[in-house]
Amino acid sequence: MSEDYPVHMELQPHVHLIRGANRAKFPEANALLIDDEVLTLVDAGPSKSHIVKTLTDIGHSVKDLDRIVLTHFHIDHKGYAAELQEESGCEVLCHPLAERGVRTFEGMVQDYGIVGNSQYGDWISAITTWLPHVTSDYDVTGNFSDSKPIDCGETQLIPVHMPGHTPDHTCFGINDYETMLLVDIDLTRFGPWYGNVVSDIEQFESSIKKVMELSPRTCISSHLLNPVTEDVHGRLAEFLAAFERRDERILELVGSGLDSLQKLVSRPTIYPKFPHPIYYIFEEFMVQKHLDRLVKRGLITIDDNKIRLSR
Ligand SMILES: [Zn+2]
Repeated sequence: MSEDYPVHMELQPHVHLIRGANRAKFPEANALLIDDEVLTLVDAGPSKSHIVKTLTDIGHSVKDLDRIVLTHFHIDHKGYAAELQEESGCEVLCHPLAERGVRTFEGMVQDYGIVGNSQYGDWISAITTWLPHVTSDYDVTGNFSDSKPIDCGETQLIPVHMPGHTPDHTCFGINDYETMLLVDIDLTRFGPWYGNVVSDIEQFESSIKKVMELSPRTCISSHLLNPVTEDVHGRLAEFLAAFERRDERILELVGSGLDSLQKLVSRPTIYPKFPHPIYYIFEEFMVQKHLDRLVKRGLITIDDNKIRLSR
């Protein structure tokens, strides 16, 4: 696959960014390769050709991989881990809360919370057609613990549990917190994504605030081609503000007559537009989570599925 950007880039000694194809947009994602005593891949979501090319360019092959560390259970992150493990016999580590969603496709579907959704059949057929590799079972060989460094040799990966996007979502400090892999606190223009039943807005907000407190200077996103090094605090603040902005947009839309979940979702309200009809599922979860918190704050009431602004 040819791209108009380099497939990989050395960020610091031992640490290589492997860029996803298609500018690392979902279902692609970036990964990190730690070329150290323990050859460690963090996430396995870029096209396999990108992973293989990076390994080859720095003098390795897939067989040399010792370990894959997964940041969370999503398909664009666990990606090719099962295939790479089969070829290399490497370890696969994840957060304890990621195990269900990583190990089996059924476990992942439970964490998505989409069985019974009207779009479920279309989602399954889209995944099995386009991303068959993520429907396999993954052999998790161990867990990492929050804050306990993963020793790669000269490089230490420090897991920082940052739930919200998903309950297992974990960022990594590279040796310290100056440089962090922020994973799906991804600083994209789209903003935060929390479209699974297990996603949580309040946890997501707290995690972004936690990153702000750690004040990294270099933030590696799973979905941006280059690490963010300028105005890091401003970028994080902007990303965090999306939740309140979406609350306000929903209140406005309810005020203008979109008085049901279905009407808000069909518009759509959070996605600018649906890249595919199956995205309805994720929009529905996200809008529902906003409605829940607007009810809790006393800003709306919902009776018989009819949403009204509180006055
Ligand atoms: Zn994700």
